[in-house]
Amino acid sequence: MKHTSYIEISKSAYTKNIEFLRKEIGPKTALSVVVKGNAYGHGIENIVQIAEENGVRHFSTFSADEALRVCNVSKHHSEVMIMGMLHHDDLEELVRKGINFYVFEFARLEAAIAVAKKLGIKAKVHVEVETGFHRTGFEWEDREWLAKLLQDNLEFLELKGLCTHYAGAESISNYVRVRKQIKLFKKFKAWFDDQDIDFEKCHTACSAATLLYPDTKMDMVRIGIASYGFWPTQETYMYRFQSLPANNKNPLRRLISWKSTIMNTKAVKMGDFIGYGSSYMAPRDMTIALVPVGYGHGYSRMLSNQGKVLIGGMIVPVVGTVTMNSVAVDVTDLEKVQQGDEVVIIGSQGDKEITIASFGESSQQVNYELLTRLPQDIPRWVVE
Ligand SMILES: *Cc1c(COP(=O)(O)O)cnc(C)c1O
Repeated sequence: MKHTSYIEISKSAYTKNIEFLRKEIGPKTALSVVVKGNAYGHGIENIVQIAEENGVRHFSTFSADEALRVCNVSKHHSEVMIMGMLHHDDLEELVRKGINFYVFEFARLEAAIAVAKKLGIKAKVHVEVETGFHRTGFEWEDREWLAKLLQDNLEFLELKGLCTHYAGAESISNYVRVRKQIKLFKKFKAWFDDQDIDFEKCHTACSAATLLYPDTKMDMVRIGIASYGFWPTQETYMYRFQSLPANNKNPLRRLISWKSTIMNTKAVKMGDFIGYGSSYMAPRDMTIALVPVGYGHGYSRMLSNQGKVLIGGMIVPVVGTVTMNSVAVDVTDLEKVQQGDEVVIIGSQGDKEITIASFGESSQQVNYELLTRLPQDIPRWVVE
């Protein structure tokens, strides 16, 4: 291995998460696994592989490039759905490959119809409606014109879905806003029903909505963060804690472990400053170990004198500032440490664990951000 660190993805943890989520979702609702942001930093190719091994056949991406990556590795002709960005130039390829995509404005819908006409292949569209997120989606006032356009072009369109997205289902402070969104979505649905416009599936729920608002589950849910083993927020977990089975209070398992090895060790005398500047002065004679992971690898500078890693089954602190490519850690109290020893930056070693949450709190990033900021060039592989 030529890299300074690597990421392991646990397949058994993934299987547990999917089992738990399927129980939550129930048998009538389909599961789409969200793999945007390079599968929340886990690697699209890794996740599609293990998800398909667990029977998942529907994937959601943000953009067209991600959707094509899913298609390229899918072994089961899974459905792929783009929830966000595509260029109109990409539409031909997407329609030809049968990739589903959101339409949330007339220009995209018209472009899709034009491409479908030209190719003689129906475009698989999901109509996104604006219910209160205020980012994308057809407005209530758009409905008549939208309905006409859909009805006039049914031979060129497969109406795969009617959908929306909630503005913060993971926090109870947004309760009223989310409830309003659910109501408006149902109003849209009823209105389209009255016009005899049928959508194959209604889908609105992300992880938090699935876990906290049962009536948002509908025909399909779009689950990201929970499938990777994280509660959307601490609050979501606390809210659900009582209702979790007594023998499974911790049903979501982290998939990711981030590991490196010791580059070298060094003796430091009491009173010496470690690393740049004077942020850390050795309070005693010390042994430090250099770990070749720094802010350039996604290990935040905020973790200077704050972060912790695992070496030899012990939690050891970062001493001094995080530099671009390395951190120093205090290994004075470890019995035997040498170059090449495993360092766990996120994950377990023996009976100790560095959680992403603790790591996130000390660097003030939420799980989502921390995961997706892990540089794409750190090698990732699937382990049991
Ligand atoms: C990211 C995203 C999801 C998944 O959200 P999680 O909180 O990770 O479950 C669902 N729907 C849309 C439109 C998204 O952008």
